[in-house]
Amino acid sequence: MVVPLFLILIFAILISLVYASYEISSGFYVKAYCRKKTTEKVVALTFDDGPHPENTEKVLSVLKRWEVEAAFFCIGENVKKYPGLVERMFVEGHLIGNHSYSHVNSFPLLKKEKMVNDIRKADDVIYASTGVPVHYFRPPFGITNPLVKKALKHFDYYVIGWSIRSFDTTTDNVEKIVARIERQIKPGAVILMHDKLPYSAEVLERVLTFLTENGYEIKRVDKLFNII
Ligand SMILES: [Zn+2]
Repeated sequence: MVVPLFLILIFAILISLVYASYEISSGFYVKAYCRKKTTEKVVALTFDDGPHPENTEKVLSVLKRWEVEAAFFCIGENVKKYPGLVERMFVEGHLIGNHSYSHVNSFPLLKKEKMVNDIRKADDVIYASTGVPVHYFRPPFGITNPLVKKALKHFDYYVIGWSIRSFDTTTDNVEKIVARIERQIKPGAVILMHDKLPYSAEVLERVLTFLTENGYEIKRVDKLFNII
């Protein structure tokens, strides 16, 4: 059987579009800051999906002990439940970004108005905790598509992606998670982790040890890209 060329083409285009949606660094739908082009040994740490009542607290304590600033892309629903933790992040010098209010699985497919409202609601609860407007956004699941692109036109955000995904939510094997991150460390990297896991603080401690031993400096992501 011979497959017509146009079918192969359509299939290839579909595959590329799906890839572009899932790969935030493709920059296809939305321009996102994912890795700084540099030869300097500098990286940024980012945490998604918090705050979590116990585990975020532990992550914050590790960051404080190491005197390191990070970025937290918070879920609005969690901010509403634990506003004190977001206030602590802010007071301790961390960057707080919007990661949607609901973080529902259907987020990337929400109608524009719903998506805009969801994002705005997260801005409002973060503002209520910090008193500072939110300028940074990370789309839930890192998915960008024409709907997300349209919704983001209503805001003036810097969209922050990543260059290293730790996949720390897919296993609780700290060794594996740390090894995966270490393998990919290079100048200008933006590392995606989560602060909601019981082992988040342990992973962070190990990554900080590795970075320090290898001469890396850790910068807050907005300072890394100079987009303060
Ligand atoms: Zn998330």
